[in-house]
Amino acid sequence: KVLLEDIKRRFNNVTAIEEISFEIPDGEFWVLVGPSGCGKSTILRTIAGLETATSGNLFIGDRLVNNIPARARDVAMVFQNYALYPHMTVAENIAFGLKMRKINPKIIQERVVNVARSLSLDHLLDRKPKQLSGGQQQRVALGRAIAREPQVFLLDEPLSNLDAQLRDDTRAELKQLHQQLGITTIYVTHDQVEAMTLADKIVVLSGGRIQQIGEPQAIYARPANQMVATFLGNPP
Ligand code: ATP
Ligand code: MG
Repeated sequence: KVLLEDIKRRFNNVTAIEEISFEIPDGEFWVLVGPSGCGKSTILRTIAGLETATSGNLFIGDRLVNNIPARARDVAMVFQNYALYPHMTVAENIAFGLKMRKINPKIIQERVVNVARSLSLDHLLDRKPKQLSGGQQQRVALGRAIAREPQVFLLDEPLSNLDAQLRDDTRAELKQLHQQLGITTIYVTHDQVEAMTLADKIVVLSGGRIQQIGEPQAIYARPANQMVATFLGNPP
């Protein structure tokens, strides 16, 4: 599970997030949505350990991780502006986190092949990043993060710089990968279709506060307030 208890984050006098609490059961796919500046990235970065909460408690599994550094949390994060290792091939990029953890080379090889197949990268394994399109590079970044099979997978608008067709394909592949691996996933997006099709639960945020948490259909049919209704496109 991932459990947030009254997590707050202030930057001097700016409150980025205010008393955020939710509990994600193991294996679920949750999507965070809300207007620009509502605190989505701050929540992900806090869970990843890239940001320290001003107050509140954060648990990953049964472990209180408030004071655990990012590298010691079993969490992988993919950013909108991913960075691949330019001197490594696609296969080496995907394998990178596994090699760091001294996993058996045969198992690494199997995982790389499996992840590459799921993300339609099998024919590109020997290429360097600069020989790939932007969309292909983004899939390698996803593959590199998921190959580690982290306990928690954090994705911050990972498809936003892909064209519509590639975004649809990659979204479908991500969903399949999630069904196959069952890794607890938190996904930030501006895209209503992504939220509706990927989420077990959607968290709608505004001004650093939770407006509503629920299954996509429930939120769509019964938005808690005007803000949620406007944001998910079903004004009453
Ligand atoms: P977007 O959809 O534009 O990515 P977001 O929901 O991810 O927005 P955050 O990046 O979490 O929003 O920012 C939440 C609030 O905290 C914003 O008002 C932002 O200006 C502020 N903020 C974030 N990081 C910092 C920082 N390092 N210093 C000061 N203020 C910050
Ligand atoms: Mg953001």
